[in-house]
Amino acid sequence: MRRLAALLFCLSGAAAAEPPRRALVVVLDAGHGGAYPHDGAHGRGGLIEKDVALAVAIRTKEAMEEAGVTVVLTREADADLSLARRAQIANEAGADLFLSIHCNSMPKLKDRLLTRGVETYFLSPDPTDSDAKLLAEIENGGPDAAPAKGGDAVSGILADLALGQARNDSSRLAEIVQRRMVRDARISGRGVRQAPFAVLAGTRMPSALVEIGFISHPLEGRLLGKERHQTAIARALATAVREYADDVLARRLVSAATRVVLPEIVLVARRPPKGGAPAASPVAAAAAAR
Ligand SMILES: [Zn+2]
Repeated sequence: MRRLAALLFCLSGAAAAEPPRRALVVVLDAGHGGAYPHDGAHGRGGLIEKDVALAVAIRTKEAMEEAGVTVVLTREADADLSLARRAQIANEAGADLFLSIHCNSMPKLKDRLLTRGVETYFLSPDPTDSDAKLLAEIENGGPDAAPAKGGDAVSGILADLALGQARNDSSRLAEIVQRRMVRDARISGRGVRQAPFAVLAGTRMPSALVEIGFISHPLEGRLLGKERHQTAIARALATAVREYADDVLARRLVSAATRVVLPEIVLVARRPPKGGAPAASPVAAAAAAR
């Protein structure tokens, strides 16, 4: 935090006009919502994915706001939103990153008893394996997402060169989220994976989809309904976003001398850009002064 103060001071001292400072903007998407079949996966004891996702999203919003992040939820109640609408909310909010929260589920009884753990996905037209492909098909089964159309939309977005940076950053985001979920929320890890999720395809910023656990597993499913576990997940996600801002966005801060974007939770860029930065850049100067 002392470093942040130093950076802010440097910026305001060097620039004639008020520097364009703003808080990091995160859009959290609680998966699913509304009546069957849009309510997501079902667990034991009446536990439904849409409710767990919303509870975790609200707790994550609280945890992130404590850290000074501006958070927008795609839904704040049991609403049936199209996948396109969710992405649109993120784009209109000018979000720095988008995180979609879901619960996983196994269809067969044998698998329901055994399979548990967290998986974090980033967008790709090439699914990691057949399970990832199937999962994306299930999650894409929203009100407006026909599978064929979803596939085209994903390819179209991936062809957009302007989004190259966001794509690279999405895999970093997924890695950090996955690591924090395993380490901080103490959920067994099933790895970072990729698949053509329609909700991620529509967003124009780094994005990831986290399957916070298997609602179908007898123990993990029950845990997902517990306040304590939801809070642990929320804290892990908030820490992940902070780490992402510090590691990924702060580096961008140094390389983008023309447009200074300063998420307030970013401490300072970790290293100066290759080949040195223009001396006129107050941000680069702040980084170099360390
Ligand atoms: Zn889901």
